[in-house]
Amino acid sequence: MIINEILRILVIFIKSLPLLAYVSGDVTGDDIASHLKPSHGLEACVQHATQHYTMACQQCQLPVCDLCTGNPDHKGHVFSKLQDIFQEKMKQLHDKLLLGHTSKNEVLIKREKFESNLRDVQNRMISKCQHLHELIDQVLQKNTAELKEFKRKKMTKFRKT
Ligand SMILES: [Zn+2]
Ligand SMILES: [Zn+2]
Repeated sequence: MIINEILRILVIFIKSLPLLAYVSGDVTGDDIASHLKPSHGLEACVQHATQHYTMACQQCQLPVCDLCTGNPDHKGHVFSKLQDIFQEKMKQLHDKLLLGHTSKNEVLIKREKFESNLRDVQNRMISKCQHLHELIDQVLQKNTAELKEFKRKKMTKFRKT
């Protein structure tokens, strides 16, 4: 289940990369693996068959090879290394996963705290009940004793009359 979640995030992150928009349709695990490997899976340039995409044009939002960068179409455009983009995305992904891990722990701690609070309340309820029981017993004993005393006095009076 965790593996599926990671795969799902990877698919989302690959799909969200505009420069990888050419990855159309369903992304398989193999696709993901080939894109994440730094040296393998570099796509051959559509315009320059001998070159691989090594950079991305920020303005065109397209992957480019070394020869593409000299093309007038990209005049004045800014290029970023694919490697850097991948590393940045991987770092973001890693941070996200760590964050998920942390919040999961926090939820666990909150749940434990909640359960321990509940136990406290229950213990207090039980001890309060016991205290009430003791009070009732005391009152009952006192009343019984008073009743006995009252009866004794009355009986003495009856005997006198
Ligand atoms: Zn090219
Ligand atoms: Zn461009």
